[in-house]
Amino acid sequence: MKLPRPVKVKPLVRGLLDWFSANARPLPWRQTCDPYAIWVSEIMLQQTQVKTVIPYWERWMAALPTLKHLAKASSRRLHKLWEGLGYYTRVRNLQRAAQVIQDTHGGAFPIRFEDVLALPGIGRYTAGAICSIAFNQPTPILDGNVIRVLSRIFAVGGDPRKTPANEVLWSLADKLVRTAGRVGRPGATACSSLNQAMMELGAVVCTPQTPRCDLCPVAAFCVAFRQDSLADFPGKRARPGTRNVKTAAFVLRKNGRFLVRQRPDGVANGHLWEFPTLELQPARTNPKAAAKQLFAAKPGRLTSLLVVKHSITRNRITLGVWEVEFAPGSTPKVEGGTWVSRSQLRQLPMPSAHRKIARHVLLQTIAKGLGKG
Ligand code: SF4
Repeated sequence: MKLPRPVKVKPLVRGLLDWFSANARPLPWRQTCDPYAIWVSEIMLQQTQVKTVIPYWERWMAALPTLKHLAKASSRRLHKLWEGLGYYTRVRNLQRAAQVIQDTHGGAFPIRFEDVLALPGIGRYTAGAICSIAFNQPTPILDGNVIRVLSRIFAVGGDPRKTPANEVLWSLADKLVRTAGRVGRPGATACSSLNQAMMELGAVVCTPQTPRCDLCPVAAFCVAFRQDSLADFPGKRARPGTRNVKTAAFVLRKNGRFLVRQRPDGVANGHLWEFPTLELQPARTNPKAAAKQLFAAKPGRLTSLLVVKHSITRNRITLGVWEVEFAPGSTPKVEGGTWVSRSQLRQLPMPSAHRKIARHVLLQTIAKGLGKG
């Protein structure tokens, strides 16, 4: 691994602080120092773009404005507020952490880095972000944007998620935020601004494919820019290969109600609701055979409704959706299945793919109703 080249740290930090104070986007969570609000934004922003997060964050803060509201909210309400953001373990950890804060910190968000880091669902990055942004502590952060910025400025090679490159990047982030604490103007929140400046630079200027070095406030310090080797930084990550998966979901109606079930804890999209679904193994399995296996009854007519393509972690999933009918007198069953009305179907928290199916069948129902009229 290449070692970082010497870079003048104080003027680099001043350049980042000046640029951020003039160019920071007015994101809603930047208008507050409430650690709860900042924490929620940081968890939502993991794996998700800013423009997607803004309406979710605003809805969340309107519905659950304090830690106390979060600690007491029902599981269904939390999952509904999170519906579409994915990685639902995050929302359950948010609530667990809020309950820990109620029980062991008297309801006040902890200030010490170690106490924040000890909360469920909070790792080194998130603890650093909360402590620096809410409390202006010199705690470093290292997310995808900061990795890209630091790797390029200091020409840090190697897989940035693994040692030794990862340790080098953390120590650079630490050095920069501590320097900000020393060089920042008295009374200014320099540690907060420095960390946010690196995130912001990575998001809007030092982007993955086409960095705008011509607009960059720290181009004069950037080793990768000076030596014209942007493509080498950050180093390539070893990623697991993708897996193609075929699944079938079945829409079953009875007296205007739909059969759905709740996904168990510990699986992807756990606690959310779905139409009965089965992975096709082998992938060429006939959907009628899959329906028979899933419902323990012989299906009658199957009608193809739509195909949804989506991804969960490394799985690239093709979900075929079928309306299934059974002969009168047969008793199709599915484990954990329950019949819900149209209005209940609208209210249930569902993974994005199943929300699409629900929208499709609800629209179909409305269209049929209009047709009759
Ligand atoms: Fe990124 Fe270019 Fe700025 Fe270097 S000069 S930090 S590569 S935008």
